[in-house]
Amino acid sequence: MNLAKPESMNAFWMPFTANRDFKENPRLLVSAEGMYYRDVDGNQVLDGTAGLWCVPCGHAQPKIVSAVREMVGQLDFAPTFQMGHPAAFDLAEKLMAYTNHRFGQVFYTNSGSEAVDTALKMALAYHKARGEGSRTRLIGRERGYHGVGFGGMSVGGIGGNRKSFGPLLGGVDHLPHTHNLEKNAFTRGEPEHGMNLADELERIVALHDASTIAAVIVEPVAGSTGVLIPPKGYLKRLRELCTKHGILLIFDEVITGFGRLTTPFACDYFDVEPDMMTTAKGLTNGVIPMGAVFSKQFIYDTFMSGPAGIELFHGYTYSGHPIACAAALATLEVFQEQKILEHAASVQSYWEDAVHSLKGLPHVTDLRSIGMIAGIELESIPGKPGARAFSAFKQAFADGILIRTTGDIIAMSPPLVIEKKHIDELFGKLTTVLKNLA
Ligand code: PLP
Repeated sequence: MNLAKPESMNAFWMPFTANRDFKENPRLLVSAEGMYYRDVDGNQVLDGTAGLWCVPCGHAQPKIVSAVREMVGQLDFAPTFQMGHPAAFDLAEKLMAYTNHRFGQVFYTNSGSEAVDTALKMALAYHKARGEGSRTRLIGRERGYHGVGFGGMSVGGIGGNRKSFGPLLGGVDHLPHTHNLEKNAFTRGEPEHGMNLADELERIVALHDASTIAAVIVEPVAGSTGVLIPPKGYLKRLRELCTKHGILLIFDEVITGFGRLTTPFACDYFDVEPDMMTTAKGLTNGVIPMGAVFSKQFIYDTFMSGPAGIELFHGYTYSGHPIACAAALATLEVFQEQKILEHAASVQSYWEDAVHSLKGLPHVTDLRSIGMIAGIELESIPGKPGARAFSAFKQAFADGILIRTTGDIIAMSPPLVIEKKHIDELFGKLTTVLKNLA
């Protein structure tokens, strides 16, 4: 495939990108294998972010590549509306087994955003189906990211992602975020302070009444707003309160699903049972777009006890696309055969030590880590929020490592196949970048 430098970059309107800045000085990737990308000039770039948190098993896994090749030649497309194909059912069963049968069903989407909007719609329709149609309110959290659909944007809590798009969904409220640098800076794992912030749900319930609230959605660990780790006991408390008030709890596991915390899902790590779970990204190792909503059996049963006919008026042309299913099936096999989670667990403390070795470097105001995730918070340049981290990102790329920034926070989430030598390379280069950062 010809992947030479494009002659013009005008026509591609790039997502979540400073288009003008990028097109003046592009960063173009042309191939990937294992832990490394290669750029258009032939330079190796160590992947410190698993692409966009989506390549847990490393790039170009042969089993996934050949599964996709095989399926595209055999069944390029098959509808799943009033039709089906075996791989979609096979994958669903295997995904349920992968959750230890915590969940009963899976609904396929094509992205995390679609998974979130699907889960929110399911929550509303579930309550209506069981005769509590007044439960229409959705509760998100400040600094939450749930994709870019109108539902996800509305429950999301990032001002910049919301401000240009009108009033969004009505009937949405937000829990406070849990980030507290004064009390929790430089924590490994879950911070000590902030569990009580879950009790803010009681305030919201008192304000609106439980009978109007359908669901609470949170990321177990918020990624896109800069690695916000839940305080000890916080998620369990949220679970208790949702149960007490008959509110569904949705975990958005789009980044935490498929091993990011060294367990299959964050709900395993924190030992908290959500009623629904949204996933995407690592589900296919990033190879083909796919998302999925996992739901508890009781939710499905509620729909199935209604009148005969279509039980949920929702779905996407590409729900359960055969090629995505093939990629996901192969990904699950790779997880098992290559013991990806076991490997991640075996390097986790080395990773964490490397993260916290950055303490004392210029401008570093916090280091936080959980599983195979790191957040490095930098002091902002006065009047220029985000500028310092963004220049670190550019310099890091020039030096051969891929990091990700949001505001003045660097987030790292490498493929889980990372080895100690890669961790050394990643943090060695990052140390140099941070030392020289203006
Ligand atoms: N939810 C969370 C927690 C995410 O981190 C993301 C993407 O980063 C999404 C939803 C949206 O996923 P997608 O970009 O696949 O639509």
